[in-house]
Amino acid sequence: MVNREKALQALMQMLGDSVCTGEQELYASSYDGLKVSGFPQARVQVKKPDEVGKLLKLANEFCIPVTCRGTGSSLTGGATPHAGGWVLDLSNLSSIEIDPTNMLARCGPGVVVGDLQLKVSEKGLFYPPDPSSKNFCTLGGNVACNAGGLRCVKYGVTRDYVLSLAGYLPTGEFVRWGRATRKFATGYNLRDLWIGSEGTLGVVTEITVRLILAVPNRVTFLGVFCDDQTALNTPLALSKLGVLPSIIEYMDQWTIDCLQKYVGFEVFSGIEPKPMVLIELDGTAESVVQESSLVENWLKDQSLSFRKADTEEEAEKLWAVRRQGSSSMKKLASTKLNEDVVVPLDRQIQLIQFVDSLRQTFKLKIGVFGHCGDGNLHVNFMYDEENGSETEEAVRALHQLMQKVIELGGAISGEHGVGLAKTPFVRDQFNQAEWKAMLAIKKALDPKGILNPGKIFDVFKPWDQKKEKVVLSWEKN
Ligand SMILES: Cc1cc2nc3c(=O)[nH]c(=O)nc-3n(C[C@H](O)[C@H](O)[C@H](O)COP(=O)(O)OP(=O)(O)OC[C@H]3O[C@@H](n4cnc5c(N)ncnc54)[C@H](O)[C@@H]3O)c2cc1C
Repeated sequence: MVNREKALQALMQMLGDSVCTGEQELYASSYDGLKVSGFPQARVQVKKPDEVGKLLKLANEFCIPVTCRGTGSSLTGGATPHAGGWVLDLSNLSSIEIDPTNMLARCGPGVVVGDLQLKVSEKGLFYPPDPSSKNFCTLGGNVACNAGGLRCVKYGVTRDYVLSLAGYLPTGEFVRWGRATRKFATGYNLRDLWIGSEGTLGVVTEITVRLILAVPNRVTFLGVFCDDQTALNTPLALSKLGVLPSIIEYMDQWTIDCLQKYVGFEVFSGIEPKPMVLIELDGTAESVVQESSLVENWLKDQSLSFRKADTEEEAEKLWAVRRQGSSSMKKLASTKLNEDVVVPLDRQIQLIQFVDSLRQTFKLKIGVFGHCGDGNLHVNFMYDEENGSETEEAVRALHQLMQKVIELGGAISGEHGVGLAKTPFVRDQFNQAEWKAMLAIKKALDPKGILNPGKIFDVFKPWDQKKEKVVLSWEKN
């Protein structure tokens, strides 16, 4: 019997009905928010954390690729089983234990982020990281990608809330990085190494996050600007006035045009498509009133026009439209490449000007929106994949965008991670020494390269059917 079949039999014996090999379930595990890539041999929906350790020990012994999966909302192909093997589905590990005394929560990786926010809010507490996908993505996926979202500008990203992680090394050994303490300066910080490692260094089975007090008051503004430069100056201008909004979101005129046509009739009716910025202030009643008057005066001076949402319902209408920025663009073409590049705040305008040059050179539809308070903009390339030449142009334009971002001192991903989509570009982000150090870490923690092969490092060759193992280029050198 060949290795792969032997391994599968051993897995079934060990984990019984958690192992699924039905074609439909396997197909459902072969794609994420970006694409289909690879077809797994089995999907294992673990019921208890220690099953993860057992599975990894076996996979490591037989050299079976293992791809972790939360709910598969990754926009980079991060959750696809590119090299086949086993998909490790963690969505059932969804317990939430709140410790109001210490203001923290101990969670399974399968907890849906919106559910966590709701549950802690019942105790007057708040878990701030809020990716737009919060109602369907998991905390484990957020940790693996160091997910961001709208409120990062004031509250930070996932990393800023994780106190401790427990889980398993690719060998199946149990580890706990960090503790449920506010500080930890004891030895190397492997907790932070795991955060953002996209399931390539270990599997997270328990996450302890810190919580803050629920924020009582909010107010939202929508500013319409004459040009991108003025719109994108909002974060630095408000900072210099001593205002720290919880959210600052930019939408270029192409995005506004799409939103007006397809989803935001009510909100944007009668406005000419122009760059717009949504600003949310939150805090105590007094601080919100004080900051609001500073923002209002600034908007009077700098914007063409602005609106203030006085009620929660009115504000929610604005945010609901913003959240549909991505889906409304899907009306323009069948395929959307959503890049989440990040540049220094004052260079966002250079990025936007470059995107405009790409529009003209490649005759592509490109809409930009995103978290301008962090310099983290979503550049959406819209094209029809069935149209060969348009696809080629989109790929060339994408490559040029990545080069430009690096030239501007930015990073090719600010929150979605590298996954498959950015693996071809990630090498350009680092110098030789930096790349060698990253590779050395991967080799040390996952010597057989079983965890999420094909992501971040393309030194992994796809599953070699004859040798029944993943061939690593470092084995040849
Ligand atoms: C409409 C939409 C809007 C989005 N908006 C945002 C946004 O505002 N901000 C943002 O940051 N992202 C956003 N995303 C991207 C995506 O939701 C995030 O990357 C999210 O963190 C993925 O969570 P998931 O549970 O779906 O993980 P999956 O997609 O299943 O997996 C993502 C990665 O995490 C790894 N992984 C999952 N669980 C574990 C685990 N327990 N241990 C180790 N590795 C694991 C996987 O192997 C994979 O590499 C959006 C996606 C969509 C579809």
